[in-house]
Amino acid sequence: MQKFSFHTHSVFSDGKNTVFEMVEQATRLGFEKIGVSDHLSVHKNIIHAPSYQETKKISHQSFDEVVDICNKHAEDIRKAEKIYGIKTYVGYEVDYFTYNGWEEEFKDFLKKIDYDYLITGNHFLMSQNGEDIFDIWRFSNYSERVSENIKVYIKRHFETLQKAVRSKLFLFLAHMDYVQKIKDYRQEDYQQEIDSVVAALKETNTASEISTKGIRKFGHFFPSESILEKLIKNDVALIISDDAHSINELGSYFDDAEQELLLLKCNKRLVV
Ligand SMILES: [Zn+2]
Ligand SMILES: [Zn+2]
Repeated sequence: MQKFSFHTHSVFSDGKNTVFEMVEQATRLGFEKIGVSDHLSVHKNIIHAPSYQETKKISHQSFDEVVDICNKHAEDIRKAEKIYGIKTYVGYEVDYFTYNGWEEEFKDFLKKIDYDYLITGNHFLMSQNGEDIFDIWRFSNYSERVSENIKVYIKRHFETLQKAVRSKLFLFLAHMDYVQKIKDYRQEDYQQEIDSVVAALKETNTASEISTKGIRKFGHFFPSESILEKLIKNDVALIISDDAHSINELGSYFDDAEQELLLLKCNKRLVV
């Protein structure tokens, strides 16, 4: 039974509880350790993303503006570890962007902050050059604003996931089929793209999550069972995530996830 979560959020991004409350709850649940992985979404044009007004708090235009707040956040997490006495890690759920220069700036930024690990969770569709971004979260509200066929954007989204994985910066890939939030998305239309992401995970020895957030929101795990089967067949390591945005969500449905992995005969788990 997995007794830790490495995909959790605090008030630093869009979570409801402080890092102290999250770590305290982890000890209550008998967790061995916890990683706090708040959102890190830095894009030079993020203020033009359609849902910017709603996601302002977690959207940043440059890495320079987040160095200090990230280091202060890491300090809090280190403090929480001392107070509650369980191993605690500083992580980030990073939106990987593809415009020229982004990756270099990101790597530069990493040298300036205190952190332990990164996961990649991509929440945007983007234009060919990566300069214009559209939040998947509320896509149905403004779908007429994108200029190309939606399928082109979704295919590109899977390519972005692949690039993120191939950068080898990330411990695991979060919610691989996040695009299912888009109305009319049909997995059958993107088998080739999904297979390429799976191949990238396999080749780079990067893990994927099985997230119980799907159970809470859609009644099934993220990613879908057929993707989980592909991952397992390709020997990609899996980690159970709750994507907890509050103390109540921490460790939720982990028993069911264990059951699912047993059923799917998964025998490669991410060791952290
Ligand atoms: Zn996410
Ligand atoms: Zn998350």
